[in-house]
This record gives sequence, structure tokens and C-alpha cells, in this order.
Amino acid sequence: MSGQAHETAGLTGDSLEWDTPLFRTAIEQYRQALEHADVEHAVAERLRFPERAVMLSVPVRLDEGHLKVFPAYRVQHSSVLGPTKGGIRYDPHVSLGECAALAMWMTWKCALLRLPYGGAKGGVRCEPRGLSPAETERLTRRYTSELMSVIGPQEDIPAPDMATDEQTMAWMMDTYSMQKGYAVPEIVTGKPISIGGSVFRTEATGAGVVMVIERACERLGWRLADQRCVVQGFGKVGSVAALELAERGATVVGVSDYSGGVHSDRGLDLARLQRWTREQPLVELDGVDQVTNAELLELPCDVLVLAALEDQLTGENAPRVQAKLIAEGANGPTSLEADTLLAERGIPILPDILTNAGGVTVSYFEWVQDLGRLFWTRNEIRARLSEKMADAFDRVWDLSHDRGLTLRHAALVAGIREVAAALEARGIYP
Ligand code: NAD
Repeated sequence: MSGQAHETAGLTGDSLEWDTPLFRTAIEQYRQALEHADVEHAVAERLRFPERAVMLSVPVRLDEGHLKVFPAYRVQHSSVLGPTKGGIRYDPHVSLGECAALAMWMTWKCALLRLPYGGAKGGVRCEPRGLSPAETERLTRRYTSELMSVIGPQEDIPAPDMATDEQTMAWMMDTYSMQKGYAVPEIVTGKPISIGGSVFRTEATGAGVVMVIERACERLGWRLADQRCVVQGFGKVGSVAALELAERGATVVGVSDYSGGVHSDRGLDLARLQRWTREQPLVELDGVDQVTNAELLELPCDVLVLAALEDQLTGENAPRVQAKLIAEGANGPTSLEADTLLAERGIPILPDILTNAGGVTVSYFEWVQDLGRLFWTRNEIRARLSEKMADAFDRVWDLSHDRGLTLRHAALVAGIREVAAALEARGIYP
């Protein structure tokens, strides 16, 4: 263990293997929220730790013949409310601490949405773009085999995350099913519709982001159709959010991807941008004004949607943000410092565990449909999602106003209270 880890020990009495900067951020948010959550000390202490953290090594035969071994993880934070649920990522930065932090946030997110799940997160430390499809398939199948004893439809249900997708979930479902001897579609969510995936799952996160923005506008006395919006990130979440905003009459004046952003005061032609970004980076598009990602975040606008990656608003750029409302489609896009600065400036932030929860909510619908072997229509799913998002939003908004909390603190307090109430009722075994 590093000297730095020893110096920062003390959060839990001892420094443990998952005690990394991201986990410390999750613990600090938890500590701040606990001040307002009225949770029994023993229960608060229990929820500070992940229930189970698995470290694995995954041997993979590479295409040119030699074997490479990849470190891999799965962390399950809380099984108090039901099976654990969370994504699998393939990324060079995956670590036990990152998985533990993201698993804890998943617990609060699922509880806030009143889904009968706890949080989990896992992944393989690898460079996904350096692996061929055949290597990725072998990696996924061996990783799944190694996890057989800790995952299951009533224990822990994986989903896609960074660099994993429907195909990855199909390989996981097949590997699990082959070992069981029968088809088990409910072992993963985010899989292809042909093997039990749900309609509207791919659009769910972006659509949910806009459902939350729309509700916030109502509470603020604004008309969504009058708002000028900027969307950072034009991927699975950001592109759907931009289109949904435009469908409701809002003007999308800026969007960006990893290459940079585009800007137009009159509003962007989103259909053209979507066609373009299928093959090419945004920065090569002609006939529009270009901006850098840093400039995009500071454009004059009403609503800024963050749908790219973590740590985008920081203590450095938060003072220059001109938006009147910020919506977190991505996980962790606002640093603790930026959070404080924006709160001081009176700019509300619709927090990630509420705003991007449409994805896990429709994943829950997918699991329920698989267990019941009965499938719903797109309109039914959209209506149920809208009801869930509105209910969670209203609880967060009201708590924030009643207790004078930021929306982030209110969302965390609401999520933590749900889990804590269940653990207080169940008691801590034995
Ligand atoms: P994605 O890979 O489809 O899209 C990410 C977008 O961000 C792409 O347009 C990419 O070009 C852009 N991007 C990458 N680096 C950038 C940078 N430095 N500056 C600006 N843009 C950059 O991923 P996604 O599924 O849309 O996920 C985006 C975020 O939403 C992530 O934080 C993810 O964890 C979170 N999220 C996703 C889901 C989901 O259902 N997909 C659910 C909950 C949360």
C-alpha cells in the first residue's frame, strides 16, 4: 500500500485496498449527506463499506498466439434491497477503488429511483481499442466464467458501461446460460432485443435526462421551449438528449464530441450532426462555427447538459459558466469544488444519480420483462419511465427546498435513507 494511502487513512479507521481518490470522493459525499439523513450509527457504518470486492485475473489467448493475463474486478456494494446491479467497463484505468466508488453511487441511484436493487460495478483493466473482436469475446467469456459464483439474476446483474455494449452482454448471457444448461436472459441487461433485451433501453438515459430538465423548468417557472441549450458529448446519452430537447421546442445552440464542438445561435441541424458523427469527428463539419470543448462549457445558454465524462466543471472553469441550469447526464462531471462554487452562484445542478437514472430504470424493466417472459411496448416503457423519473425528481426537489440542501445533497440523502430504512428494518445479521 502506498505511503499516500496511509496518510489519508482514517475514513474507515484503516486504509483499505479500495481507498483511492475516487472512492474518497464517494465517501466524502456520503459523509456530507449523512449529516441530513438521520441514519443509525451502526447502519451508516455498515453502508460505508462494499459488501464484497472480487479481484480476478483473466487469461486470454491473443490472435497472434501468446497468452496475456488481465486484472479484473467486481464490487458489490449493497444487497439490502435486492440483487446488485451495475455496469462492466473495459478501460486501462479500471481499479478496485474506481469500481467501489461507482458501486456505492449505483446503490444510492437505484434506491432513489425505488428500484429493488443495490449497486455494483466491475471491469477489466485493458486497452479495449487494442483488442480484436475475437479477443474481446474470449476476454468476456472467461471473465464471465470467473464471476459465475458471484453473479446471478437474484444476486448480481451486469450491464454495459464504457467500451462494452449489446454484443458484450450477449456473450455474457450466452456464457452464463451454457454453464447453467438453459437460457437465462435475466442475467444481464442492455442485451440485444433478439435475446430478451428491452425496446427503448438505448434511448432511456438521454430521454430520462430531458424528462428531468422538463420537470425542473416547470418548477422554476420556465418554458422548456424557450430555453437555449448546450450539450457536451454527442454519444449514446448526449445525442438522444439533444434530439429530445429539440423535439420539445428548445433550441440546441452547441454540441461537442471528443474532437471539439460546434455552435450556432440560430440552433443546430441535429439530424445532420447525427449523420455526420456516425463516421467523422464533429470538428471536421463545415458551415458551422467551431468551438473547443473548454469554450463550449462557457457559452451563453440557459441549460448546459454534461453528457461526456467525469470532471468537466472544476474550480477553475466553474466561475465562467453562463448557464442558468446544469444537467448531469454523465457520471461525476462536476468536481466537489465546482459544486460549491456553482451553489454559491445560485446555479442549480440536476445531479447524476437522479438525472441519468433512466438507463438503470429501463434496465430494471428489462429484467422484470425477462423474469415474467412478457414484453411491453415502447409507449408503455416510456410512460413507466416518465412516472418513475417524475416521482424521484419531486422527492428530491421537495427535500432540497424543505431542508435547504443542494439538489445533489437532497438526492443522496433520499437514496441513503431508502437503503438505511431497509437495513434498520432487517437488522444487521446475525
Ligand atoms: P458514449 O461513448 O456513447 O458518448 C460519449 C460522448 O462524449 C461521445 O460523443 C464522445 O466523443 C464524447 N467525449 C469523449 N471525450 C470527450 C471530451 N474530452 N470532451 C467532450 N466530449 C468527449 O458514452 P455514453 O453512454 O453516452 O456515456 C456518457 C456518460 O454518461 C458517461 O459518463 C456514462 O457513464 C454516463 N451514463 C451513461 C448511461 C448509458 O445508458 N449510456 C447511463 C448512465 C450514465
